[in-house]
Order: sequence, then C-alpha cells, then structure tokens
Amino acid sequence: MSEGVRHEVAVSVPKQQTSGESEGPPLVSYVLPVYNEVDGIRRFHEELAAAVRERPEFGYEFVYVNDGSADGSLRVLEDLAKNDPRVRVIDFARNFGHQIAITAGLDHATGDAVIVMDTDLQDPPKVSLEMLDTWQDGAEVVSARRRSRRDGRVKRATAHGYYRLLKRCAEVEIPVDTGDFRLLDRRAADQLRRYRERSRFIRGMVATMGFQQQEVLFDRDERAAGETKYPMRKMLRLAADGVTGFSTAPLKLITRMGFVSLTLAVVGIVYAVALRLFFPEVTVSGWTMLMVVLLFLGGLQMLSLGVIGSYVGRIYQEVQQRPLYVVRDVIGDDRG
Ligand code: UDP
Ligand code: MG
Repeated sequence: MSEGVRHEVAVSVPKQQTSGESEGPPLVSYVLPVYNEVDGIRRFHEELAAAVRERPEFGYEFVYVNDGSADGSLRVLEDLAKNDPRVRVIDFARNFGHQIAITAGLDHATGDAVIVMDTDLQDPPKVSLEMLDTWQDGAEVVSARRRSRRDGRVKRATAHGYYRLLKRCAEVEIPVDTGDFRLLDRRAADQLRRYRERSRFIRGMVATMGFQQQEVLFDRDERAAGETKYPMRKMLRLAADGVTGFSTAPLKLITRMGFVSLTLAVVGIVYAVALRLFFPEVTVSGWTMLMVVLLFLGGLQMLSLGVIGSYVGRIYQEVQQRPLYVVRDVIGDDRG
C-alpha cells in the first residue's frame, strides 16, 4: 500500500516543538476549544487551575482555541494568558467548528500527554486527574465515558440512538457514550495529527488508531453558563460525518432498496401477465396505484442520489486540500 507515501505528499502538518526528553516533570497539555463562552470561561479556568494543583508532580500548559467567538471570549482569554504563563491562545480567523478547533489545539500542544475537554464545565476538570492516573498506569488513550448526562431529553435520546446506530454500521468499534473528552499520550497524539480529513469525527479516528485504550466513567454535568453551541444543524452534520467517515452502510442500503423494489416490480409483472392470460375479462385498474408507485420510486431515487451526493461532496472537499483552519494569532507563545 502507498498509504505512508500518500500522507507524506498530501499532508502539511504544522511543525511542532515537543517537550521531548527535556528535563523537568512530564508536561500535560490541555486542549480547550472555546466558542462564545464569555460567561463561563473565567470560572472554567479557575476550576481547572484548582484541579491541577492536586497533581503538582506534572507541569501544565493550557491551549485555548478561540473558534471565532463573536462575544468577548477572546478578551477574557487574553487576560487569562497575561496572568497565567501556562496559558496559550490560538485565535482562529473565523468559526471553524469544534472538531477543527480540537485539531488545532492538538497541533499546538507540546505535552507528554494531551487532554481534550470542553470549556463549559460539562466535562468536570476533576475527571481529567483520574485520566492522568490511568495514563501513569500505562494507558495510551484514556476516554471519558458518560455514566449519566444532564442534557435535555431530546439530546439524550438522540445521542443514545445515534451511538448505537453508529456501533452497528461503522467498520471500527466506536465506543458508545463517549465524546471528545479524552487523554492522549504523546505517541497517540502525534499519530492522530496525521489524520487530516476535512469531515472530522475525532472519536472515530481515535478508535481506528488502536493503542492501549482505557475508559474512566463520569457523570456529565449541565452547562455552567451560556447555551449549547451545537444547534441541530451542527449536530446532524457531525452525525453524518461519523457515519460517512466510518461506514459505507448507506451506500449498501441503496443497493438493497433497489433489490427490494425490483423484486416487487417482478411480482407485479407476473401478476399482470397472469391476469391478462387467464382472466382476460378483468381489467387491471389503477391510476392511484400508478401514482403511488411512481412517487414512491421517485422519492427513493432522490434519496439515494442524496446519499451518493453526500459522499461525492465529501470527496470534493478532500480533493480541494484547503487548509483545515486559519489562525489569526497565537497569544502567550514565548517559545516563538
Ligand atoms: N465549540 C467550538 N466551536 C463550535 C462549537 C462549540 O469550539 O463551533 C466548543 C464549545 O465552546 C465547547 C465545546 O466545543 O467548549 C462543546 O460545545 P457545546 O458545549 O456547545 O456542545 P454540547 O456539550 O452541547 O454537545
Ligand atoms: Mg457542552
């Protein structure tokens, strides 16, 4: 396979300085995507800083990615960076979305372990300490799995259904009830950075990588402030990226639907011919039937075209090879 070669040619991953074998305690990076979190971000940072004080044996860096916030989030982040030398802020030129913000954070994180978490306090900072313990015990990827969650009923139900659907059709085992709250060992983080597809479903990419994976269970809290930045539209898009990125089941489904309607058609033909031959006095009436079948098949065909189209659209996006994100500024990066 030319896989390795393809990656070399097609990918321009930003250069990165790793902490490597430098002396001092192991460095832990937090990757923190922020989109319009002005009301909660300061409290989040305080809680996170308080939590990591319980593990003084590590060094820390906090990589905030400002994903084109339209509120004052950036100003708050700049302020945090001024008062805390461990804070770095990657400021996007516009909103690129949660999954891409995480990617940028991973590109800029230099730690021996990288922890990705939301900045709305739905992922409790304390849980990341448990992840660190699990990492110390030898795990290379530690995912946080929700034992319970306190989102609205609709969100809970759709998430529950979706994770199970994905489990059935995806070609890799994607763990259920697991989001992007996760610790990655330096080795796993470096490998994850090689996945540069545009339609990103990071939890799926992590699942395909392998490595020694562990879970910690946690109770997902409510948002501390503000409201969800994942409206229905973005959620559906992520869900579609998950399915199309890791499964060709929708394409196979089209073939199956084709077979079923073909079978029905054959049965219909045999019936009509038999009627004509053996009961010539009966006329097969059926304007209504005709319309129903016509509309049904037309709908089925358009649906199928839509499914194929969504794969083709994703191919087009990949072929364009645009950069995944555009950074306006990096704040608090004294390493140059
Ligand atoms: N987020 C982001 N870009 C976006 C949407 C969300 O960086 O376009 C961030 C957001 O600030 C939060 C995290 O991603 O830290 C998860 O978003 P949210 O809490 O709205 O999702 P939910 O928990 O409702 O699924
Ligand atoms: Mg949230």
